[in-house]
Amino acid sequence: MKKILPNLNNKLPLSDAHHNKMIQLLDTLKETTHLKPDEFLYILDHITQVEKEYLFSLAKATKNTYYQNRVYLRALIEISNYCKQGCKYCGINHTIETVERYRLSKTDILKTCETAYLLGYRTFVIQGGEDAYYTDELLVDLIHIIKHIYPDTRITLSLGERPKASLQKLFDAGVDRYLLRHETASKRLYEHIHPAFMSFEHRRQVLTNLKEIGYQVGAGFMVGLPTQTNKDLVKDLDYLKDLSPHMIGIGPYLCHSQTELAGNQSGSLDETLVMVALTRLILPKALLPATTALGTLHNTGREQALNAGANVMMPNVSPTENRKQYEIYQNKICTGDTSLECRGCIETRIKAFDHEIDLGVGDFYDLERTKNDR
Ligand code: SF4
Repeated sequence: MKKILPNLNNKLPLSDAHHNKMIQLLDTLKETTHLKPDEFLYILDHITQVEKEYLFSLAKATKNTYYQNRVYLRALIEISNYCKQGCKYCGINHTIETVERYRLSKTDILKTCETAYLLGYRTFVIQGGEDAYYTDELLVDLIHIIKHIYPDTRITLSLGERPKASLQKLFDAGVDRYLLRHETASKRLYEHIHPAFMSFEHRRQVLTNLKEIGYQVGAGFMVGLPTQTNKDLVKDLDYLKDLSPHMIGIGPYLCHSQTELAGNQSGSLDETLVMVALTRLILPKALLPATTALGTLHNTGREQALNAGANVMMPNVSPTENRKQYEIYQNKICTGDTSLECRGCIETRIKAFDHEIDLGVGDFYDLERTKNDR
């Protein structure tokens, strides 16, 4: 039984009264960037294809106000598929014995940064499972080297929940941004998709810590999770509005057959795009990636996200031989391509949807303005 956005695929239009109320709520959201929880719930409970198209047009117009049709590219480097955590949806969590594990050395990572830099990328996103191999000492040294060789770049880390003192050291060493999806703002749902040793409160505390330290912070959530309801999604919108992260990654839940959640239905493209568009309206200046998971669901999923308010893409520059091993979900796209092929492919795709690539560092809107005003 469908749990979220139940009318999204309805062929029948809403009654005039419902349709008019939806349009009025969406217009108010665009103007004020906020709605009450019951108003968000009304949208999610009633939205059909007709109002979806209107929502996308508002989200795209909002994005264009700040970022025009530019799409920032980030080079994604997946450094390790070792992880001590046990997220039940994840194909590389520590319980999955069939995974062939790998990790990149400092030298491997530096070589990959060089490849990425030569391809024009000016943000390196260093992502991995929670792997104790990457000590503060190793990372601080790595960051110093990267910043020394490539002073005109930004470094983003996505290495899970680290202690505040560790995050402070990495920030002091020169890391600019940190991605840590909150996954879901519903405590009930968080506990359903994580083992008992993982804490809803702790994850949110780490996000608060990142903001206090001064990072450009990325949060984010999954759409279509098993047992997820529209009320859970409203909590995501409310939480994001309160936290006001600089970046927000929103992807469909994609069911992995080797995980504890095997057999569940995956999230859909349309459901996810609606949440991307609503997020654009509540946080108009946010950097919103068109996630690779969307490209896995549909050949043009990422490009369609650009038309629903997204403005970032993260081409994979990890060594091709390791890409298949970083399998948080199955059938991930681009695992057999070289970094050069990915670079060309992504540019063609972005242009085909009337957007342009931007190879600048792509900071959050207000930070870019501050620098330019100096
Ligand atoms: S989702 Fe991330 S933290 Fe969770 S098990 Fe997978 S790699 Fe580890």
